[in-house]
Amino acid sequence: MPRLGAALLLSLLLALPASMVGGASAGPPVSAKGKKVSVTIVRQAQCHGNRCFVVLDVRRSPGGRAVLKVAGTRTALTLAEGSTRRVVSVAKKSLRKKVKLRHAGRTTKRRVVRKPQPVNSGRRPCAALSARDVYLSVGPTSTSDGRVNLSSRGTLDVASIYVDFPDAPGDGDPVESHQAFVDDGASYLATSSYGRLDLQVRPVPGWVRMPAPSASYGLEDGISYAEHLAYLQDAIDAADPDVDFRGVDAVLVTTTGNAYLPGSAAFRGAPGTLSSDEGRLGPAVTFGSDALEIDGVLFAHEFSHTLGLPDLYAFAPSDIHRYVGTWDFMGDIYAKPSDLFAWQRIKLGWLASNQLLCTSGATTTFAELAPLSSPGRKKSRKAVFVRTSATSGVVVENRVPRRNDSTLCASGALVYTVDSSVPTGEGPIRVAGASTADCGSGELSDALLDVGDSVSVGDVTVDVLGREGASLEIRVKH
Ligand SMILES: [Zn+2]
Repeated sequence: MPRLGAALLLSLLLALPASMVGGASAGPPVSAKGKKVSVTIVRQAQCHGNRCFVVLDVRRSPGGRAVLKVAGTRTALTLAEGSTRRVVSVAKKSLRKKVKLRHAGRTTKRRVVRKPQPVNSGRRPCAALSARDVYLSVGPTSTSDGRVNLSSRGTLDVASIYVDFPDAPGDGDPVESHQAFVDDGASYLATSSYGRLDLQVRPVPGWVRMPAPSASYGLEDGISYAEHLAYLQDAIDAADPDVDFRGVDAVLVTTTGNAYLPGSAAFRGAPGTLSSDEGRLGPAVTFGSDALEIDGVLFAHEFSHTLGLPDLYAFAPSDIHRYVGTWDFMGDIYAKPSDLFAWQRIKLGWLASNQLLCTSGATTTFAELAPLSSPGRKKSRKAVFVRTSATSGVVVENRVPRRNDSTLCASGALVYTVDSSVPTGEGPIRVAGASTADCGSGELSDALLDVGDSVSVGDVTVDVLGREGASLEIRVKH
């Protein structure tokens, strides 16, 4: 029996058949040098995939120090005096038929009382978000959006046209000057999608001259659907003699900085809304003078509208980053932007449905969450979703400063609400537990929960219980 100084080392072997959860077993006190320690398994396990969470109630007499080592975990727990509730995450394969306590050469075995208790899992509670016909909903895709959205998985063939005007000729080689912007954007999306979306961008060499003066397109004061359509069709017509549009999924049109087109915008057109000599075209993105001022995250933002993602900043005139700050690049792209929420990646098919643990009804759920940004194994759990109404729920995920999240100033659990009935620009996703104070990367950037932190959203409470490597152990009560 190993000793840790004056520490009392217990080895607890837990064991339950794979499917079992629930139950209680009060252990007899284990005596050591006058100190007493007893361990009660209060609610024994919830197993998701290969990991199980076991709730322990440990009572320890005052004095000395006690360490509990649980089979299947990599770390021993140092126990406080008195009664402590601890949750440990163990590998399912380490669960056996009996609980075993060992101390000072003495072994106590107990059988665990088994009271199976259902664990909500699988996709149904997520899918149950009602399918109202909301444009760019964060819930199920509406029929009309479904006709327009580009496929978010696989390879997309994208034609890139650089346009100038009779009154505003372009300078230099546009492909060369914009290459980094386009490459950054495509690479940002490749990273967010874990390599599941591949944009093959084919630039049309040189400037393509538009038929009319720049001011005639009416783009200086915002852009209407009709203006957008006319502008795009002119660009496609002007490029058509030199471009084979066969197989093109989307068109990019970037304006010379010598013309005044201040903003960039996505055009959500069903196939046939635009046309070329070779056939029907639809989805497109136009880039204005901001294309060279913001890095490729602007590209990623606008292109993601053609995949069906909504705007997460507020369309209201003030405090526009109140909902999600920089936690998703469909929100603030001007501060230090970060990656996409897990919820968005589920919608786009970039995370598998079994990587989201879904629950509904009054329940307590334990989960170990791998960092959202790491590709990981396809089965690794990335988020927990608790359904709170017919259209809404609360999501918890694990964010660390890596890859597209490299500008984050901390690691921890991020909690937010999703509501499929809330339109784009009105806060369909809202980050919880943040103030407007920040830790260096924009509004709401203090939202991450560290170990020991907790946040409540309505009747859902999220606690961060521990950390194993880069993974977080969390508890969600509803
Ligand atoms: Zn947008």
